[in-house]
Amino acid sequence: MVKDSKYYDLLGVSVSATEIEIKKAYRKSALKYHPDKNPSAEAAEKFKEVSSAYEVLSDSEKRQVYDQFGEEGLSGGAGGAGGFGGFGGYGDDIFSQFFGGAPGGGRPRGPQRGRDIKHEIAVTLEELYKGRTAKLALNKQILCKGCNGRGGKEGAVKKCSSCNGQGYKFVTRQMGPMIQRFQTECEACAGTGDIIDPKDRCKSCNGKKVANERKILEVHVDPGMKDGQKIVFKGEADQAPDVIPGDVIFVVSEKPHKNFQRVGDDLVYEAEIDLLTAVAGGEFSLEHVSGDWLKVAIVPGEVISPGMRKVVEGKGMPIAKFGGYGNLLVTFKINFPPNHFTSDENLKKLEEILPPRAKTTIPSKAHVEDCVLSEFDAAKYNRQNGRGGQSYDDDDDDEHGGAEGVQCASQ
Ligand SMILES: [Zn+2]
Ligand SMILES: [Zn+2]
Repeated sequence: MVKDSKYYDLLGVSVSATEIEIKKAYRKSALKYHPDKNPSAEAAEKFKEVSSAYEVLSDSEKRQVYDQFGEEGLSGGAGGAGGFGGFGGYGDDIFSQFFGGAPGGGRPRGPQRGRDIKHEIAVTLEELYKGRTAKLALNKQILCKGCNGRGGKEGAVKKCSSCNGQGYKFVTRQMGPMIQRFQTECEACAGTGDIIDPKDRCKSCNGKKVANERKILEVHVDPGMKDGQKIVFKGEADQAPDVIPGDVIFVVSEKPHKNFQRVGDDLVYEAEIDLLTAVAGGEFSLEHVSGDWLKVAIVPGEVISPGMRKVVEGKGMPIAKFGGYGNLLVTFKINFPPNHFTSDENLKKLEEILPPRAKTTIPSKAHVEDCVLSEFDAAKYNRQNGRGGQSYDDDDDDEHGGAEGVQCASQ
């Protein structure tokens, strides 16, 4: 006599049921209440309950404890870790063992969707400015045109009864306390899921239902498209029987440009000008990604300082969909004249022309050291700091310099 028949009732079996009867009963209930089959809250609760019941009744030790002491006996030490709270989740594991829900297993879920095919399409800024059409060949699998993907004459293709058209079967094997399920190819239909009389089999695909095709896709990269943007050909991926074909997706990959950096719809450019142009006006020119050359005026009176940023409006990238153009942001590098570029006399004249020197401000009581500047050897500093060549702008590799940055002497 058992103390409590609740678990047996949940599975709908008698208290004297055999292991196999319990297994069968669980399989039946699990199929009925599994959340994939039945999304209602009652079903979820029921699934949890039958899984808990099965978890106990399928284990001879736990079943014995349950028969003798009921649920209390299990939630004590005897039932092992976790108590009953965790069984909802465990139910899923049992389910996977039974029905092959683990990766690679095929739980029926309606028509499958095929895999997308992704390709990167590398484009230059010039191509993104003007737009570009690329013709790309795609080798894909299509349904056989000779039999429309049936594999043989209409009506001649029968669903394999041995595997119910699945092409594979499950074999259950008990290994110690574990019930393991293996997926094996159906022998009756050689994994195809169909039985076709050889004389009715499609000649062009030999019953395989599919063929290969080379298709040319015209990929339009529109002006102003951005890095990472997708161009989608819906349903152009591989076809297969009973599968909704996936998409072919081209992902725009913007190649780096030697002169321009793109920031959204704007372009960033570094212009090099000489000191005279920077302080007295002039012009500079650049080859734009449009293919045109731009001649940019610096109006006399306007002073450009190093690193300053200015804007040439409307000379950025085209703005996709909305039209118009971004801006060209120009930063300046100013080339100063070399040492001793002019006479002392002329330097005196500069003193008259340029704004006066800023006064040094040292507190009157401070101890003062006089210093001079020496040449800076970037290569040496990079070695000392264990860094690559990027720590200083000047990546000069000659080694004869060797001087410290600043030398000082006490006064
Ligand atoms: Zn065919
Ligand atoms: Zn079969």
